[in-house]
Amino acid sequence: MTRRQLVNLIAASLIPSFLLAKPENKTLQSDLKLNLKPSDFVDPGDPVATSLKYSEDSKKRKDFEGNTCESCKYFSRKGVYDGTVVGTCVVFQDKFVNQNSHCISWTQKNL
Ligand code: SF4
Repeated sequence: MTRRQLVNLIAASLIPSFLLAKPENKTLQSDLKLNLKPSDFVDPGDPVATSLKYSEDSKKRKDFEGNTCESCKYFSRKGVYDGTVVGTCVVFQDKFVNQNSHCISWTQKNL
């Protein structure tokens, strides 16, 4: 092994593994098709959901426009269900919501 090869080997071992990860892996993880049941999702008729003005379609509410679960800091994207991106919500004890839902607890996700 040459000195140059040794230096390159040491330099490569110092690069954190997350910097070497391929972006496709993240995409595949977040686009995972999930096998869920309706009971896995927030029930809009639930008293907590009602008190937080939860809506499964933020476009129907002019005052919610643009502030969807997808951009909320309490949303954790998990994959795709029935053709829609879904994730869990901390506010609703990790029940699933779709990316277009909204409630009055919406808080901008840190970018
Ligand atoms: S807290 Fe955020 S992620 Fe949860 S339902 Fe409300 S807007 Fe969606």
